[in-house]
Amino acid sequence: MDRRNAFDLAYLACACLFIFGLKQLSSPRTAVRGNQVAAGAMGVVIAVTLWDSGSHNLAWIIAGMVIGGAIGAYSARAVKMTAMPQMVALFNGVGGGAAALIAFSEYHIATSSSVSLANDAVTSTLFSAIVGSVSFAGSMVAFGKLQELITGSPVTMPGQKLVNAVLFLAVLGLAASQYVGSQSEGVLALAMVLSLLLGVIMVMAIGGADMPVVISLLNSFTGLAAAATGFVLHNNALIISGALVGASGMMLTRMMGAAMNRSIANVVFGAFGTGGGGEAAAVGASGGQVRATSPDDVAVMLAYARRVVIVPGYGLAVAQAQHNVRELADQLERRGVDVRYAIHPVAGRMPGHMNVLLAEADVPYTQLYEMDDINDEFPRTDVSLVIGANDVVNPAANNTPGSPIYGMPVLNVDRSAAVVVLKRSMNTGFAGIENELFYDPKTTMLFGDAKESIMNLVSAVKAV
Ligand code: NDP
Repeated sequence: MDRRNAFDLAYLACACLFIFGLKQLSSPRTAVRGNQVAAGAMGVVIAVTLWDSGSHNLAWIIAGMVIGGAIGAYSARAVKMTAMPQMVALFNGVGGGAAALIAFSEYHIATSSSVSLANDAVTSTLFSAIVGSVSFAGSMVAFGKLQELITGSPVTMPGQKLVNAVLFLAVLGLAASQYVGSQSEGVLALAMVLSLLLGVIMVMAIGGADMPVVISLLNSFTGLAAAATGFVLHNNALIISGALVGASGMMLTRMMGAAMNRSIANVVFGAFGTGGGGEAAAVGASGGQVRATSPDDVAVMLAYARRVVIVPGYGLAVAQAQHNVRELADQLERRGVDVRYAIHPVAGRMPGHMNVLLAEADVPYTQLYEMDDINDEFPRTDVSLVIGANDVVNPAANNTPGSPIYGMPVLNVDRSAAVVVLKRSMNTGFAGIENELFYDPKTTMLFGDAKESIMNLVSAVKAV
C-alpha cells in the first residue's frame, strides 16, 4: 500500500469512529466514551494531516495547537453548567471564523499566482468564506447576548428585512462576479465583510432566550463551511467531519423546533419569548386563586407518597439546586418512596440541559425518564414536584387552542394526584404565558429560590 492510500485509509477509519462516537452520544450510559472515541479519532486525523503535509511551518502549527488546546481545555473545565450555551457559541464561532480565514488564505495564494481557479474550487472557497463569516459573527453576537455583554432583547432597525435582503443579494452578486470576471481577493474580502455584517444584524434581531436554537443552527453552518474548506484543502476527513457537524446541527435545530412546536423561521424571525406576545398575555388569564404552601406540609406529602416524580426545569439550573434535589431524593428513597425524574426534551435552555445537570449531581440515569416514557405514569403518581419548570408542564399546550404553545408536547403533571410547584413568584417562563396548572385545585405553590426551598424540604422530610 502506498503512502497516499495509507493516509486515506486512516481518514476513512477515523470517519467511521466519528459516526460511532456520535451514535454513542445518544445515551448517557455511553456518551462519555463516545466523546472520547471521537476526540481520539480527531487526534489521529490531526497527526495524519501534519504527517501528510510534511514539516512545512510545523513549529507555528504546533505552537498554535498548544496555545489553542490549553485555552480550550481550561475553559471546558472552568465553565459553569448554566454558561454552557455561550461556551458552545464561542467555540462554534471560532470554528466558522477559522474556516473563513483558511478559505481566504487559499484564495490569496491562488489569485497571487497567475493560474486561475477552476469553478468548483471557486465555489467551495466562496461558500466556506461567506458561510464561515456569517457563522462567526452570528455566534459572537449570540455569545454576547447569553453572557449579557449586550442586550438580550431583539435589536431591530427600520427596514430590517430590506437591509438583510440587500446585504444578502450584494454578497451573492460579489460571489457571482468571481465566476465571470477576474478572480479578486479584494472582492472576496468585501463579500466577507458584508457577510459578517449580515451575521451581526440577523442575530441581533433575535431575543436572548432563543439563542440556543440559533447557536444550533449556526453550528450547522460552521459544519457546512468546514466541509467546504475540506474541498478547498482536498482533505477528506475535514469534508466528512464538517458534513457530520452540518447534518447533526441541522437535525438538532429541527428537533428543538419540534419540541417547542415552532418552525425554524419562527425562531429566527419570530421575536418569541421576549415579551413581544400580546397574544400570549391574553391566554391563560384565569383569574383563579393559587394556594401557597410550606416546606413542612410538602415534606409530609412527599414522605408518605408511594411515587414522587420530580420535574426539573430552567429554574433548577439557575438556582444550581441539583445536588440538593439528589439529597431530597435520597431521603425519600430511604423512606421507601419510588422517586423518578421526568425530563422534557427542551426543559432548560439547551438540549440535554437537565440530563447534564442531574448527572453532575450523580443522579442515576436509570431514574431519568424521557417525556414519552413517563407521561402515562402521571395518573399513578402521588406527587409531582415541579422545580423551576413552567412551560414544559403547562396544560394549555394540550387544552387551549390559540395558546402560543398549543400543540407543544408537555409533561402531563396535571394528571397526577397532587402537584407542588417550586418557583419564586408568579412570573411566566420563557414563553411569556400564564400557566393554568398553578390555579389547578390540586396544585400548591412553594414560593422561594429553588435551592433554599429544597434545603428546607430536606430538613423537613428528615423531621417527619
Ligand atoms: P421556563 O423558562 O418555562 O420556566 C422556568 C421557571 O423557573 C420560571 O417560571 C421561573 O419562575 C423559575 N425560576 C427561575 N429561577 C428560579 C430560581 N432561582 N428558583 C426557583 N425557580 C426559578 O422553563 P422550562 O424548563 O419549563 O421550559 C424551558 C423553556 O425554554 C421552554 O419554553 C422551551 O421551549 C424553551 N427553550 C428551550 C431550549 C432547549 O433546548 N432546552 C432552547 C430554547 C428555548 P420565577 O421567576 O417565578 O422563579
